[in-house]
Amino acid sequence: MRATAAGIHQAAAHLRNGRLVAFPTETVYGLGADATNADAVGQVFQAKNRPAGHPLIIHTATMAGAFAVGADDPAATRLAERFWPGPLTLVLPLRSEAGIADAVTGGRATVAVRVPRHPVAAALLRAVGRPVAAPSANPHGRLSPTEAQHVRDELGPAVELVLDGGPTEIGLESTVLELVGGRPVLLRAGGVTVEELEAAIGPVDEPGADEPARAPGMLRQHYAPRTPLRLDADDPLPDEVYLGFGAAPGATCNLSPTGDLEEAARNLFVMLRRLDSAGARCIAVAPIPDHHLGRAINDRLRRAERGATPDGPGSGQTVCERPS
Ligand code: AMP
Ligand code: MG
Repeated sequence: MRATAAGIHQAAAHLRNGRLVAFPTETVYGLGADATNADAVGQVFQAKNRPAGHPLIIHTATMAGAFAVGADDPAATRLAERFWPGPLTLVLPLRSEAGIADAVTGGRATVAVRVPRHPVAAALLRAVGRPVAAPSANPHGRLSPTEAQHVRDELGPAVELVLDGGPTEIGLESTVLELVGGRPVLLRAGGVTVEELEAAIGPVDEPGADEPARAPGMLRQHYAPRTPLRLDADDPLPDEVYLGFGAAPGATCNLSPTGDLEEAARNLFVMLRRLDSAGARCIAVAPIPDHHLGRAINDRLRRAERGATPDGPGSGQTVCERPS
């Protein structure tokens, strides 16, 4: 459904009635449910085939709404004033009076909150007037949706209403930062860079990418196409498709011919989808600089490399290596 005023009005009624709505945010499409309705939240886990215990991010229209759910402190307020509405999720102590369904947090004492800036998301949240729990609108472990059609293709009848707001602006999930006393911890690289966070609040701890999952639901294998990936590839082998970056003469698709990381982030999931359907043995991926948004892009690529499953059109091998 087009995200007109009437469409948004209908979607808000849907959410208040305990039904699911997929909607665009500036990061990726979200699958929303009324966060105060345990049955609606349960439907989100079912539709995504998401394991219980993987907590959901709560979306609100305003900072005051977010801090009515999670307890703010001076650092949270500073970050909220600087980056909200926008692609930053804060993990905060859960307020006991918030009335959030237990499944949203997996029964934890912390809650993840975000105020998105996409005009459709913002209008929808204002119209619902309740906190909306919304993970990315993809089957668990697969590529995140950056267009409404991806949601229709992959979640199908499980989601009656998909608000179509066109392709998303950032194309990668939000940054997740834990602020529960002590030093802030980066749980997921995303649309707001670590450099920007540190400029606002000082040092942020970053668990290494290969450390065991520190955040619940932060999996080493995730965001995966079916075709195996080969990362840091300078050029493609004959039976590979090639995802380029910058000057990349042999590229089947190029994330950004001019080497622009924002453009690359926007193109990442949609190009991986396209290459995944090419039937190649392997998707070779050019090196991406590991700073600013490149950190988030490389994080997704590494998880995708580990998570590629061999039931796709490829040859069935799970590891893609350059033959010696
Ligand atoms: P997504 O499913 O893409 O919306 O991502 C949600 C992610 O946010 C989860 O997988 C967690 O890593 C993180 N998250 C959400 N809620 C919490 C929480 N209460 N504590 C820690 N991390 C959380
Ligand atoms: Mg997700």
